[in-house]
Amino acid sequence: MSETATFPGDKIASIEEYEAGQNTFDDGDMVRASTVGEKILDKTTRIASIKHPRLLSIPRIGDTVIGPVVAVMSSMIAVSIDYINGKPTTSKVECVCSTRNIRKKNIALANDIVALKIKNHLNGTIHATIDEPHLGVLFTKCRKCGGKVVPMRDAIKCTECSWIDERKLSSNFNNSDFIRLRE
Ligand SMILES: [Zn+2]
Repeated sequence: MSETATFPGDKIASIEEYEAGQNTFDDGDMVRASTVGEKILDKTTRIASIKHPRLLSIPRIGDTVIGPVVAVMSSMIAVSIDYINGKPTTSKVECVCSTRNIRKKNIALANDIVALKIKNHLNGTIHATIDEPHLGVLFTKCRKCGGKVVPMRDAIKCTECSWIDERKLSSNFNNSDFIRLRE
């Protein structure tokens, strides 16, 4: 929690200075928080309010998520979710994605950035799929030398050492705002 984090009942401003805004109440003396959240003191409007945190960002079924591959297993990959439907999230939720049905030697490698779609939640695990054209690897590097790769039909080729490799590429491969955001 940051220093602007509040709990219900916390004093956030004096009513002489600020009016009670969203998620706050006025106890006759102080403006107090009525919810957990982040304190916002608007100096222009003189309104004190609490920004309620977005519910811990657990992706829902059908959401598109983007993040780095954190583990590659024989029939699945684990991905740490950085974006849900294009919005950044800091909750660091992970999901797993079965790669069993994809006929490629390498679907995605550790640290590749992939786009997945959430399929279901089972026993506390979030399952996603990679099996649609826009899903798959958005950003990757050469496995041999770490060089920049370019797509070549279904494969990728390193511009440095010419190593050719497979990935399940997204149709947005190397063509994503997300990559520009990271730079
Ligand atoms: Zn290379």
